[in-house]
Amino acid sequence: MDQINFQNKRVLVRVDFNVPLNGDYKITDDTRMRAALPTIKHIIDHGGKAILMSHLGRPMKKLLPDGSIDRNRFTLRHLVNHLSELLAKPVFFVDETVGEKATAMSHKLSPGEVLIVENTRFEAGEKKGDEKLAEAMAELGDVYINDAFGTAHRAHASTTTVANYFDQEAKSFGFLMQKEIENANKVLHGPTRPLTAIIGGAKVSDKILLLEKLIDFVDNLIVGGGMAYTFMKAQGGNIGKSLVENDKLDLASKLIEKAAAKGVRLLLPEDSLVADAFSNEAERKTTSSKAISEDWMGLDIGKQAIQQFSEVIKNSSTLLWNGPMGVFEFSNFAAGTNAIAQAVADATQNGAFSLVGGGDSVAAVNKSGLADKVSYVSTGGGAMLEFLEGKELPGIKAMN
Ligand code: AMP
Repeated sequence: MDQINFQNKRVLVRVDFNVPLNGDYKITDDTRMRAALPTIKHIIDHGGKAILMSHLGRPMKKLLPDGSIDRNRFTLRHLVNHLSELLAKPVFFVDETVGEKATAMSHKLSPGEVLIVENTRFEAGEKKGDEKLAEAMAELGDVYINDAFGTAHRAHASTTTVANYFDQEAKSFGFLMQKEIENANKVLHGPTRPLTAIIGGAKVSDKILLLEKLIDFVDNLIVGGGMAYTFMKAQGGNIGKSLVENDKLDLASKLIEKAAAKGVRLLLPEDSLVADAFSNEAERKTTSSKAISEDWMGLDIGKQAIQQFSEVIKNSSTLLWNGPMGVFEFSNFAAGTNAIAQAVADATQNGAFSLVGGGDSVAAVNKSGLADKVSYVSTGGGAMLEFLEGKELPGIKAMN
């Protein structure tokens, strides 16, 4: 992006402004909007005219009873005032994604001005990567910038197909996209060792590819959260009513064998904080993760596990964390996840590189208040997961 001359150019920017809104359409978390500011500011500070496009929610999945789009609910107009505050300047809005009106408005902008076009997912062709739609989008800009890492794993018209309508010199990643890729590559390519991956969350099935890929190149693999109990059961443990995927027991055994064969240290939680119900108010006690009584379930890692995991984390030079260690949404079962967040923050303080990415670990590290104590917190949940799995993301491929 540094190399492009934006002076007087109409710059079509695909941002990820898919922010959560409350019932009054007020933004409850503007992280994604803030993350795109460096790119937008760079363009307007260098004399460009920024035309922003994004999706918001799933309008096609939540149609009105008559089958039409709920435009009031999903319009990007809800974001205009907030972006205007963030940029400290007026922001224009047009109530169509593509078309004569939107194109005419893009031409009317003066250097330094900003226009938001309507929700890309109001267009049926968006998710299909439709060429006609992409061509119409391309009418909105002389230059195309993709800064929407969070949707880079989708081959949609605004993230992928549209790039085909711009010459190589007239398209680029934005700063956010570049940062996400650079930070993920610090883990994937030539990381400083020891490299430790901490994987948690609910299900093994969501993370099979990631686990398999990680075993190929990490030194330590810490597995916590609900998915650990499938591994425990695969090793013959009694896990009571803990979360388990019985059709993944063989896979768990194979992953354990593969780790051993590759010399990867695979760590599972020795002990668990177990509960007699899936509730924050449930009775709780600490037991061995392999000897959980029949009516109890593991909802967090135990003290011994915290100590063992923290020790490994503190002795690591590169850390990747994806997925909480327990049901961190329940305050009584958040201690394990918070302790791991603290250990990752401490290791970072001592010079390690740490990447928190994909899914709920981002929410967990934000909740623990330690987000600014780790090296990088990714904004792209599913996209980061797929990137780490080694998949080629369509939004990235389209740019090359
Ligand atoms: P993921 O999106 O895969 O990172 O999974 C996150 C979800 O896993 C969170 O909602 C957690 O509450 C849940 N989770 C973590 N540990 C457990 C556990 N031991 N039992 C049930 N759910 C869990």
